[in-house]
Amino acid sequence: MKIKMALNVTQIREDFPILKRQVNGKPLVYLDNAATSQKPKQVIDCIVDYYSRYNANIHRGVHTLSQEATDAYESARKKIQKHFNIEKSHEIIFTSGATQSINLVANGFSSFLNGSDEVMVSAMEHHSNIVPWQMLCERTGAILKVIPMKEDGTLDMKAFDEKLSEKTKLVFVNHISNALGTINPIEEIIDKAHNSGAAVLVDGAQACSHLKPDLQALDVDFYVTSAHKLCGPTGVGMLYGKEEWLEKLPPYQGGGEMIAEVTFEKTTYADLPHKFEAGTPNIVGGIAFGAAIDYLDNIGLDNIAEYEAELLEYATTELLKIDGLKIYGTGSDKTSVISFNLEGIHPYDVGTILDKLGIAVRTGHHCAQPIMDFYKIPGTVRASFAFYNTMEEIDLLVEGIKKAQVMLS
Ligand SMILES: *Cc1c(COP(=O)(O)O)cnc(C)c1O
Repeated sequence: MKIKMALNVTQIREDFPILKRQVNGKPLVYLDNAATSQKPKQVIDCIVDYYSRYNANIHRGVHTLSQEATDAYESARKKIQKHFNIEKSHEIIFTSGATQSINLVANGFSSFLNGSDEVMVSAMEHHSNIVPWQMLCERTGAILKVIPMKEDGTLDMKAFDEKLSEKTKLVFVNHISNALGTINPIEEIIDKAHNSGAAVLVDGAQACSHLKPDLQALDVDFYVTSAHKLCGPTGVGMLYGKEEWLEKLPPYQGGGEMIAEVTFEKTTYADLPHKFEAGTPNIVGGIAFGAAIDYLDNIGLDNIAEYEAELLEYATTELLKIDGLKIYGTGSDKTSVISFNLEGIHPYDVGTILDKLGIAVRTGHHCAQPIMDFYKIPGTVRASFAFYNTMEEIDLLVEGIKKAQVMLS
């Protein structure tokens, strides 16, 4: 197979100190990017720089350090605004990650729903995008409907059409499945939901390292993501919400920073985005989130997507040459995630042997147990590739799997 490289991967790898590590005496082959990405030195340096030079609390102090920290934090919000083509910067709420973003919205919707309403989820969600909505339904009596999936790991859109009705108030679906790599037709889902009067929340935690969503063009009501999956630090993420929704939603947590005025009779809330940002936030996390966005934009998500498509094609071809290997998630629209099993062998055992060879993959249900139940399997081995992975690493993975197969059969 002839490979045209969209990226200078050798140079890119120099940015990631961890990729020089050895694991069990072998060079690290990191293929667990869907769980969390590695961090380039540009992001690591940004964190060190903050604590070394201008650590201070934000939005309060008149002193220089506080102003520098506030400027850096707010400039990260602006970077995120530009990257996702968001109309207003106060439509971006910094959270601790996708999970908290979803909980914030699910919590707020308690005041909008009752027992005659329905909400809809897809069958291929991360537990983060299932459980908060189940809790919402318990609180309000609303009914949870499920968009089923098909054997190839894509959504059954005919069933979606049938289940969508004027009772549906909210649809929540992931942009890309972390367990299968399927890219969901969110444009179609958003259009149809809006035509029927439902709002849409898209869980973009898995998508934003592979593509660059244009949130105004999508016209989505809520979009959430986590920085740590896109080369940023853990513990910080984003909730995008249309201004009119964020105005309507009640605050999620009370505390400092989110108030306009406090008396014991009545407290009034601060304007957006501060209404949802109670307490001292993850300041350095927000700033480093901005640095990660800069880093990705510098390489270009289009280049990343093109290169990852090459990795996916090569890996799929080579893996399918292995006897008894089955891939789950075979839709035509997918990103560089491959979930698979070897016939008669438990995924955990494969993962353990690969680790001995320095190869990091994920095994288990990938926080998406309903998908595993659908396929009637305990879990899968998941290899997920990032733009800093190489064709040689895929060869090592294939060799490793063959070794595991011989040892475990
Ligand atoms: C990782 C992930 C989440 C959860 O993100 P956290 O960073 O753990 O909050 C939710 N949904 C999808 C699709 C994910 O991949």
